[in-house]
Amino acid sequence: MLKGKNAVVTGSTSGIGEGVARALAAQGANVMLNGFGDAAAIEKLRAELAGTNKVTVLYNGADLSKSDECEALIRDAEKRLGSIDILVNNAGIQFVAPIDEFPVDRWNMIIAINLSSAFHTIRAALPGMKKRGSGRIINTASTHGLVASANKVAYIAAKHGIVGITKTVALETATSGITCNAICPGWVLTPLVQKQIDDRAAREGIDEATAKSRLLAEKQPSGRFTKVSDIGDLAVYLCSDGAQNITGAMIPVDGGWTAQ
Ligand code: NAD
Repeated sequence: MLKGKNAVVTGSTSGIGEGVARALAAQGANVMLNGFGDAAAIEKLRAELAGTNKVTVLYNGADLSKSDECEALIRDAEKRLGSIDILVNNAGIQFVAPIDEFPVDRWNMIIAINLSSAFHTIRAALPGMKKRGSGRIINTASTHGLVASANKVAYIAAKHGIVGITKTVALETATSGITCNAICPGWVLTPLVQKQIDDRAAREGIDEATAKSRLLAEKQPSGRFTKVSDIGDLAVYLCSDGAQNITGAMIPVDGGWTAQ
C-alpha cells in the first residue's frame, strides 16, 4: 500500500517507533530510522527490515534534543531517500517526580525531545511536502496530551504541547494534501513503561506482575497493554488514502483511559 513512499520515524530503535517503522516497511515504505542504542542491534534491525520487505532502510543517529540535528535528520532523509512523504515524530523520554523536586535539566530535556524536536522536524520537512502537494505527519502524543497524572509535569506539558502543534499544522496544511494527526496511546509495554513498572515494584515491594496489574488498574479499564504493532497498524491507516480527510485529530489508543 505504501510502496515507493519514504518515511522518517524518530525514536525508531525501540518500542513504539520500532513498531511503526516495522508496519510502514511491511507496507512497502522506505524508512529512515533514528534513535539511540547499540550500533550492532540497530544495524541488525535496519538490515532485517530492508531484507524482509525489499525496501530501503537507512539510519541516522541524530540527537533530537538539538535543533540543528533535527534539521540535519530531515535534510539527510531528503537527500538519501529523495523526499519525505511520511514524518512520524515519536522520540520521547519520561521522568517522574513532583514539580517541586523536578530537576531543571530533566524539564529542559523532555521539552526539547518530546516537544521542540517535532517543531524543528515539521518546519524542515513541510516545504518539500507542500511542493509535492502531499504528505502525512503523525505525532506520537499520549493520553497525557489529553489528561494529566501527578508527578509527570514535563511529559504532560510536552504532550499537551504536541497536541497543540498537531492542530496548528493541520490548519496550516488543510488544503494542501497534507494531514497532521496525533496518536494518543495509553499504556504500551515498552522500555519507557517497563522502567515505571520496575520502579513501582521496588517502591511498593511487590513483584513485576503485580506492579503491571496495579499500573493498568489505575488508568486503563481494558486491563491490557496496547501492543506496539497496534500503533503501527494505526499509523499505516493514517497514511492510507482512506484517511485523506482525517487531520488535526487526537486518536486515543488507551483501553478506555480517557473515556472515564
Ligand atoms: P522507548 O524508550 O522504547 O523508545 C524511545 C525512542 O526514542 C528510542 O528509540 C530512543 O533511542 C529514542 N530517543 C530518546 N532520546 C532521543 C534523542 N535525544 N534523540 C533521538 N532519539 C531519542 O519508548 P516508547 O514507549 O516506545 O516511547 C515512544 C513514544 O511514545 C514517546 O514519545 C512516548 O512519550 C510515547 N508514548 C509511550 C507510551 C507507552 O506506554 N510506552 C504511551 C504514550 C506515549
